Amino acid sequence: MSASGGSCGAAITTEAVVAWLRKFAVAAAENREYLTELDAAIGDADHGINMDRGMQAVAAKLGVTGAVGSASGAAGAAGAAAAAADIGALLKTVGMTLVSTVGGAAGPLYGTFFLQLGKAAGDFAELDLPQWAAAFRTGVEGVQMRGKAGQGDKTMIDALLPATAALDEAAAAGRPLADALQAAAEAAEQGALATLPLVARKGRASYLGERSAGHQDPGATSSWLLLRAAADSLAGGPRGGAGSAGSPGR
Ligand code: ADP
Ligand code: MG
Repeated sequence: MSASGGSCGAAITTEAVVAWLRKFAVAAAENREYLTELDAAIGDADHGINMDRGMQAVAAKLGVTGAVGSASGAAGAAGAAAAAADIGALLKTVGMTLVSTVGGAAGPLYGTFFLQLGKAAGDFAELDLPQWAAAFRTGVEGVQMRGKAGQGDKTMIDALLPATAALDEAAAAGRPLADALQAAAEAAEQGALATLPLVARKGRASYLGERSAGHQDPGATSSWLLLRAAADSLAGGPRGGAGSAGSPGR
């Protein structure tokens, strides 16, 4: 498992991972009301509050700002402690922070995602696309082990699994990292939007039975935000965040 050898040279650096987490924190803050509204329809109206609380705690831990309106560029001068860590250690810290600050279903599930992602990322300082795709798959498998949801159960898995498939496909085809991340974000978007007509079979929304149909799943929507933040920042470079502000669903 060498950290080099990606087909197009680009690799995910620790700095880019910090930028991704920062961007996701900003997106969680910006979409706090939106995610909470989605959860009000089929849950208990706290998903935006949960994700914002968790990601602000992550941002604070990393020494970066995740406030609304601070979406630009890379991690900046802050986050020196985070930038010194390897990618695996960084992601494990994120997972533990989410588990300890977010109640409900989403905290432990996102926490597991980041813990497993971090374990799979190991102590590399950089990851190429095949390594990232494999680590991402491990993270999503962790969510599935924990929550037992499959495709079509109307959960975050409906966004995460298509993103995983898109990353794998792009890696197998030797496509550039930035393209792969973009494809994963688009797959997550399609997956999140496709939850609208579904009847929930897992989580709080499943208590509603048929009445859960006709509403987009909040967790799938926050996972789409996660993948969109990745497309905007993980490949580094000047893609920075142009044109990606605002809420995803309207
Ligand atoms: P809670 O449901 O405890 O209030 P949140 O509102 O923060 O927690 O998160 C709800 C989201 O969690 C749902 O929209 C769904 O996407 C996700 N979720 C719930 N249960 C599961 C599960 N078993 N597997 C995967 N995701 C789940
Ligand atoms: Mg809820």
